[in-house]
Amino acid sequence: SNESRTALVTGGTSGIGLAIAQRLQADGLKVAVLDLDRPQARGVAREQGFTFIAADLSRREDCRRAVDETVAALGGLDVLVNNAGFQHIDPIADFPEDIWDTMLHVMLTAPFLLTKYAWPHLTRSGQGRVVNIASIHGQVASPYKSAYISAKHGLIGLTRTAALEAGEQGFTVNAICPGYVRTPLVEGQIADQARTRGLSEQEVEQKVMLEPAAIKKLLDPQDIAALASYVISPAAWGMTGAVLDIDLGWTAR
Ligand code: NAD
Repeated sequence: SNESRTALVTGGTSGIGLAIAQRLQADGLKVAVLDLDRPQARGVAREQGFTFIAADLSRREDCRRAVDETVAALGGLDVLVNNAGFQHIDPIADFPEDIWDTMLHVMLTAPFLLTKYAWPHLTRSGQGRVVNIASIHGQVASPYKSAYISAKHGLIGLTRTAALEAGEQGFTVNAICPGYVRTPLVEGQIADQARTRGLSEQEVEQKVMLEPAAIKKLLDPQDIAALASYVISPAAWGMTGAVLDIDLGWTAR
């Protein structure tokens, strides 16, 4: 049953990660959230009753320590949710090289390292799950987001490879690809675009961000958490290597 299962959610104190952590806790799992060591993040974890794992995913040694601390605190690791991420918008010609390196580490290398370090625990679990929060930008591109899009495409490749290797170990690995979700990350982009394009925030939402979408409404973090809840459930034992779109019809055209 879920009562004996444990989960680690990266970036679990904000946005989609927080909604997933709340949902998995409501589903009965013991939950640890990993985030940068900030008072705000610690406060959220404390309020919600999550174990807080302070780590910077741009550092390899933090990834190792995060898995060890989670296992020590919760007694195992059955569900790993690789969710932490950030955005940077610049044309390739001007894209800062250090930001490229950090984004690739946080959003692709860290999911690889956490999966690697969690591997024996996921195998021991008997109902282990890795859920990678990719993006619609793991499947299609938009200009000026080269590092983000490259990391997310890579994360889908990692998902499929890990799924093949995990099959015999009895755990599953899947990716969720959301379209735009109303979170601090996206609110920041809406405000920036409104400023640079001289539009209202509502016009940016409807005419710029949701232009390729069939449904012109931002997703809520809870919508993504509900899908994650299904993927980690025992019912989803046969779903692995899947790339699950929840994208308002973005990629239907
Ligand atoms: P958010 O900014 O609300 O939360 C991201 C979290 O990741 C934060 O808590 C942040 O502190 C953490 N984080 C960032 N860098 C870190 C690092 N180096 N080490 C540890 N933690 C770090 O963002 P969100 O919108 O909830 O996004 C969560 C995930 O969902 C990201 O991977 C994002 O790419 C993906 N996603 C978001 C959307 C969207 O529209 N919001 C759409 C598709 C995919």
